[in-house]
Amino acid sequence: MAAPSSSSSPSYPPSLTADQLAYLTASFTDYALAHGLVVRPPPTLSPANPHNCLATSAPVTLFPSPFPRAPFDEARAIQTACNELYARVAHDEPWLGALSRELARIDDFIGKLWDVHTRLKTEGGYHHRYSLGLFRSDYMVHRDARAGTAALRQVEFNTIASSFGALATKVSEMHRFLWRGGAYPTIDLLSDVSLPRNPALESLADGLAKAHELYIADVAPERGYTLPSDADFVSSAGPTSDYGIIFIVQDGERNAFDQRWLEYHLTARYGIRVFRVTLPEIRKYSHHVRPNYELLFVPPHALDAKKQAVFEISVVYFRAGYGPADYPTQDEWNARYFLEESRAIKCPTILTQLAGSKKVQQVLASRDALARFVPDEATTDRIFNTFAAIYPLDTSPVGLHARKLAFEQPGKYVLKPQREGGGNNIYRDKIPDFLSGIDEEKWPSYILMELIQPPEVDNIVMRSGEMMQGKVVGELGVYGAVIWKDGEGKGEGAKDGVEVVYNREAGVLLRTKGSASEEGGVAAGFGCIDSCVLV
Ligand code: ADP
Ligand code: MG
Ligand code: MG
Repeated sequence: MAAPSSSSSPSYPPSLTADQLAYLTASFTDYALAHGLVVRPPPTLSPANPHNCLATSAPVTLFPSPFPRAPFDEARAIQTACNELYARVAHDEPWLGALSRELARIDDFIGKLWDVHTRLKTEGGYHHRYSLGLFRSDYMVHRDARAGTAALRQVEFNTIASSFGALATKVSEMHRFLWRGGAYPTIDLLSDVSLPRNPALESLADGLAKAHELYIADVAPERGYTLPSDADFVSSAGPTSDYGIIFIVQDGERNAFDQRWLEYHLTARYGIRVFRVTLPEIRKYSHHVRPNYELLFVPPHALDAKKQAVFEISVVYFRAGYGPADYPTQDEWNARYFLEESRAIKCPTILTQLAGSKKVQQVLASRDALARFVPDEATTDRIFNTFAAIYPLDTSPVGLHARKLAFEQPGKYVLKPQREGGGNNIYRDKIPDFLSGIDEEKWPSYILMELIQPPEVDNIVMRSGEMMQGKVVGELGVYGAVIWKDGEGKGEGAKDGVEVVYNREAGVLLRTKGSASEEGGVAAGFGCIDSCVLV
């Protein structure tokens, strides 16, 4: 990518005069700052940040990027089926256990997650009644130049800490504003129909609120509450104000505002209190009440108050805990166990987190394995059609074949470990050396995936105040919010064992990166947030 010039003239986005560009960037910057479309600045950009009070506009594109309508519609249409699929995987403990135990032998992090589950199952048992999934299924459009087609291909499925929903909603609104407010020159492509509204922020917050409501409805008979039967959500009045939601967050999170927007929505719309806590802090401020392991939380800011505020936690929402860096000592693992053991609804449980591993995605990429979890053939086909080729690197016949591919044709593949959060993959020609450099015993902890080749489009990216123009590619994420009955009757098999009580497609995220860059993660520093103009 290059600094923008006003001379080149691709048809979209339109070429701009210097005055037009200056007007657009000023409009963008003020809109982003005024609407909380912001992140904390990287320390290199702003070494002096007194009281952590500075923010900068989030990395975004100046224009919405063209995205083909049919794959966009299809990705959204199958989201509730994908939600249910992963709820079923998470619920099928024997199936998930077989995979996780294999991985645990060679992947320490997966091993530790699995240990929390098995220890809990054998020692104290689970106490929650429902599980909440705030998922995101990520796709690229695969361009088959010879056939002239563009097909939807899943990159991965996230079951923990799926981020950027709130900022995606704000980017979508911003692009609409820049269009309607006249900051763009006339662009025929843009219309009320081609710029879809994106309610990710509200939909994700609604999922959390619904779980909160279900928790209170579950405890109500024991506590003698009468809840209004006509209201969809419990109001903040009466005894329900003693309940709250915990967000488990990372210390020094730069993307805190994306999380804060969910909190603001929960509090403004539903009167729900939200507490932000790190894993090492949680034990200081909370305890269980036996025999049902309600999670009681005393917010640190209320410790000195005359009347001590104690909140019963309905939902624990993890925006941390997805990678080894969040567990530097055994204390953090103990904290995870403590939360897992509680009656609070987890988003996600350990099993749901494991269901989102790359290994599960690889196994599901065989149609028979997928069919185990999807109730009908037609839906199985629709989901299966979005899968790219993914191989194990074990010593099975297909694994041995994949090892050959990895060494002989690495240019077609990406190698993925069982990790989340971006920046962990090995691409193309680096694969052979990487594999040769590690113990062969460890190879099965990676999966080999065919590279998807998305079509390039043009756009202008604003990142940390720098403007870059050039070829970009997009990755579409579709959010899902799903709640299922869990905790009891675990492991009853795939198709019958899950009772889904809430299931919604929950908005989208378009992330865009320079087409020469391998990774697209925004927080990991590779990409930016975009919105779709459907073509
Ligand atoms: P993570 O869980 O760390 O986000 P991903 O599987 O999403 O892992 O990989 C990170 C990034 O790598 C993606 O956002 C995408 O840009 C790129 N990527 C991953 N798989 C593929 C693929 N099969 N083809 C092309 N790019 C890919
Ligand atoms: Mg991921
Ligand atoms: Mg990803």
